[in-house]
Parts: sequence; C-alpha cells; structure tokens
Amino acid sequence: MIDTDENLSDGLTIKDLFQNHDGLTYNDFIVLPGYIDFSSDNVSLTSKLTKTITIQTPFVSSPMDTVSESNMAIAMALNGGIGIIHHNCSIEYQVGEIRRVKRYEQGFITDPLVLSPTHTVADIYAIKNTHGFSGIPVTENGKINSKLLGLITFRDIDFINKDQWSITPVSQVMTPVDELITAKNDLTLRDAYLILQRSKKGKLPIIDSNGNLVSLIARTDLEKNRDYPLASKDKHRQLLCGAAIGTRKEDEKRLEALAQAGVDVVVLDSSQGNSIYQIEMIKHIKKTFPNLQVIAGNVVTRAQARSLIDAGADALRVGMGSGSICITQEVMAVGRAQATAVYKVAEYARRFGVPVIADGGITCVGHIVKALTLGADCVMMGSLLAGTHEAPGEYYYQDGVRLKKYRGMGSLDAMNACQELSAASRYYSEADHVKVAQGVSGSVVDKGSVHRFIGGYLYTGVQKSLQDIGCRSLMQLHDESSKGLIRVEKRTASAQVEGGVHNLHSFEKRLF
Ligand code: NAD
Ligand code: ATP
Ligand code: IMP
Repeated sequence: MIDTDENLSDGLTIKDLFQNHDGLTYNDFIVLPGYIDFSSDNVSLTSKLTKTITIQTPFVSSPMDTVSESNMAIAMALNGGIGIIHHNCSIEYQVGEIRRVKRYEQGFITDPLVLSPTHTVADIYAIKNTHGFSGIPVTENGKINSKLLGLITFRDIDFINKDQWSITPVSQVMTPVDELITAKNDLTLRDAYLILQRSKKGKLPIIDSNGNLVSLIARTDLEKNRDYPLASKDKHRQLLCGAAIGTRKEDEKRLEALAQAGVDVVVLDSSQGNSIYQIEMIKHIKKTFPNLQVIAGNVVTRAQARSLIDAGADALRVGMGSGSICITQEVMAVGRAQATAVYKVAEYARRFGVPVIADGGITCVGHIVKALTLGADCVMMGSLLAGTHEAPGEYYYQDGVRLKKYRGMGSLDAMNACQELSAASRYYSEADHVKVAQGVSGSVVDKGSVHRFIGGYLYTGVQKSLQDIGCRSLMQLHDESSKGLIRVEKRTASAQVEGGVHNLHSFEKRLF
C-alpha cells in the first residue's frame, strides 16, 4: 500500500514539478521509488497507441529513412510494438513495404500470391527475391477463387538448371492437387493449424466445395504465433503496421494507396502539426477512410493539441526540437523541452481520451519510463533503433567501431534524396527554392537485433523500472501519476552528475 500521509509524501507530484513553467528535460527530474510486492515479470506494458489500437509494448519506431522500413516494422510488431514506414520514397515503394509487413505473419492468408500453370520457374525465383517465400498455390487462372491445380515450392525447383528456368512451366514441376493436403473453408484456424502440425507440410491451401482456392495457411505463421505471444496484430491476425504521409494535395494519392495496402494507422509527419494543412488532411482522412486511425502532430503545446483533437486526431505525436539529430530549436528558435511538452500535452489530451506518443530524445530505458510517467502512452524512437540490424542501410567501420548511418528527415542529405525521388515537393516546392535544414546526418553504433534490443532489453528494463516505482502496469502508472501518488524530484546539475557513473579511472558501459 502506498502511504498518502502528507508527512511521508516526499518530493513533488508531477503537477507540482511543472508548476513554475521551466522547460524541463527527462534528465532534469527523477522518479522516487515506491513499494514492491510483485515480480517484475508480471508488469504489464499494454498501452493505447490510438483511440482504437492497443498494443502490448509501448514502443514505436520513427518514420525515418534510416530507421523504419518493412524489416523494422515486422520486428517491432512481432515484439508487441509498431513500426511506422517512412515516406521519403515513391508511393509504390512505401506500399510495397506495407504489403511485406501485412503479409509477414498471418492466419488465413486471404490474398495469397497465386500462379497460373503457364507461369515459369523464373517467375518463382522472382517472387522468392521480392517477397521472400516460394510456396505458391497454382490455380486455373492464376488468381484466388479459381480452381486449385497444385502447389509449387522451392523444393520442387531447386535442382532445375538456370538455363531451363524461363522455359519450364509451373505445371510441369508443381505438386498436383490430388497429391496435396487441403482443407475446406468451414474450418477454424485452430483446426487448420492442427492439420498442418500433423501433416508436417509447409502450406495448407483452403478450398471451397467447388475446389476453388479461397485462402492459404503457412506453417511458419504457426511457429511465429508461438514465438511472439505479444505480437501486434489486426483482426485478420496480420501484423499491425503504420505509415507516414505529408499534408500536401499529392499525399491524398499516397493515402489511398496505403489504405488499399491495408495500413492500420497513418502518421501525419510534420515538425509543426498545428496547421490548416494538417487539419484539412485529418478531416479528409476521417471522411474518406473513417476506420483508418490518424496520429497527428507534432505538437508540444495544449493549444496545438486542441486544434488537432478538434479536427479528429486519434493520437498525438509530441516533440519539437528534442530529437538526437535535430537542430530545429537552434535554427527556428521554436520548440519545447521534451519532458514539459509530454506532460502538458498528455495532461490535456487525456481529458478527450486521445493517446500521446512521446517522440524524440529517448536515449535509454530511464527516458522511456519518465515519458510514460509524465502521461505518454507510447514512445517513438529514432536513434535508439537506427543501429539495429533491422534498420535500413549497411554497417561500416570507423576507428574500429561498427556503425550505421542515421540522419534527420529535415537534414540536407534526406531533403536531397527526397528531391531526387521526384516526391521532392514535400520539402522543396517551386516556391521554396532555398532549403533550410532542421536536422543533421550522423552515425550510431551497432545495437544488434531489434528482437534482442526491444523484445529483451527495453521490455524487461521498463518492467523492472515500473517495479521499482511500485506499479504493476502502465495503466496503474498513469492513474497514480494523475492522482499525485507518483512522487518525483527535480535534479540539480550536481545531482545529475552524481546520478551518472563518476570518479572512476575508466569503465566500460555494457547494458545488456
Ligand atoms: P512538413 O511537410 O510539415 O513541412 C514542410 C513545409 O511544407 C512547411 O513549410 C509546411 O508549412 C509546408 N506545407 C505542408 N503542407 C502543405 C500544403 N498542403 N500546402 C502548402 N504548404 C504545405 O514537414 P517538416 O515540418 O519540414 O518536417 C520534415 C521532416 O522532418 C518530417 O519527417 C519531420 O518529422 C522531421 N522533423 C521533425 C522535427 C521534430 O522536432 N519533431 C523537426 C524538424 C523536422
Ligand atoms: P518453405 O520454407 O516451406 O519453403 P516459404 O519460403 O514458401 O516456405 P514460408 O516460410 O512458408 O515461405 O512463408 C513466409 C511468409 O510468407 C509467411 O508468413 C506466409 O504468411 C507468407 N506466404 C507464404 N506463401 C505465401 C503466398 N503464396 N502468398 C502470400 N503470402 C505467403
Ligand atoms: P531520436 O529518437 O532522438 O533520434 O528522435 C527521433 C525523432 O526526431 C523523430 O521521430 C522525429 O520526430 C524527429 N526528427 C526526424 N528528423 C528530424 C530532423 O531532421 N530534424 C529534427 N527532428 C527530426
């Protein structure tokens, strides 16, 4: 039990922390410990991403071209978070990345890639290269809802010589339908999985009473379901995925293509979201795709938040000038210290049931916990994830250190790349001849795989931290924060020095 007796209530409530209107960062305060009567393994990190989407871990990858493409989004979703695919690319490329995520882990695959008997072995190699799988049903007309004729897998073609690929039709090498194990479409997913388990096959085509292919089940999905119990999924058991878009007229086309590809949530990607452009885009989305969730932003004040909430935003992204690659506060003289921004916006948005994502400036587990304590529902990370295997780009060595490139989306590098891609109008319109960079290009060290970093270290780290605070769930943390039961304290400059490693001749900071 937490004792609320005045005399025992050390420190400040969170409201009091921000009473004198200083701009505070995560490092400017510390959370006081609570009482532990539970194991950290039992701490729930379930949280709201938007009004209608709940995820099991509050981690979101930033829509940056050195952070979030399909590999990152798949790994984030498998570990209970979500990835937001960046839009510094053509519509086709972004849609392809969304499709890869949505196809990655499924129950019934209702839009499987299907071939016709006249396709060739070369087509299968092409599909393997683009999509990563090779077990493909063959139907009469090469489409779903047509008569199933067979199934082709890599094992049917791996001994065929390369010079025969383009002249060998699929019909010649596929396993014909009378030798296939199939199931009828009145089966439950559980029954279908049992058949796959017993038959030891990789794929189970599902057919209707006329023998037409209606869907497909993959054995690997069964394994993934077992290995990632926290995975973020939609009602079709496909991984959740987000995508960023801008607020220009041409983004309406991008939006439509993304919605068709099955994106679950769009992020309106701007440093200053309180604009007529964004308000009109939110209204357009709500009118055109009423079920699509919209994360609006970025905002750092309550007035900004109000505009976007009134327009219909389903969540807010909070942060201006706090990112590791950011020079916005320096160049634009506009922004806000991140801890203050998160507290002020979250405190306001909570009244309307609108979740808040703390974006930028997260460099460690402690910052995540502080953002959540201040009222954020989720945290968005760029630099923390840019060094993982799943981030786009190759590793390189500098002075013996293994690095990956990481750049701001408002850096000259990113703006130039965007211009080259003809999607340039996002940053550089006819009327906008001079570029003003708001970000830099740099590098980050190798962090290994997201599975180990997010699914292991960050997840467990946040659980253990909540245990120290005395909260069994994020919901309890939010509730007690708003009631003044979570106590915090400002840190002087010397307290911050004391709170870090000090007075050692040398040390190595290994975290996990
Ligand atoms: P933006 O697209 O919001 O703005 C670029 C310019 O286009 C602005 O001048 C804006 O007013 C204008 N614009 C937008 N929609 C318009 C429309 N419909 N008609 C006419 N003009 C329009 O992008 P941004 O704010 O420059 O940010 C670019 C990228 O950099 C984003 O990825 C963003 O997340 C990132 N960034 C983030 C921060 C931060 O602190 N969070 C800071 C700087 C940049
Ligand atoms: P195998 O290892 O048996 O050769 P594979 O390489 O064909 O298999 P899987 O590992 O079975 O591929 O599947 C990988 C992912 O691709 C799965 O998550 C599955 O949902 C998806 N997938 C597999 N086949 C198809 C298909 N024909 N159409 C759409 N998605 C598919
Ligand atoms: P980080 O996690 O501290 O690296 O911050 C990532 C966040 O910085 C992103 O999610 C964006 O909100 C923001 N950001 C991305 N690109 C830029 C930029 O060029 N300038 C300023 N901020 C940026």
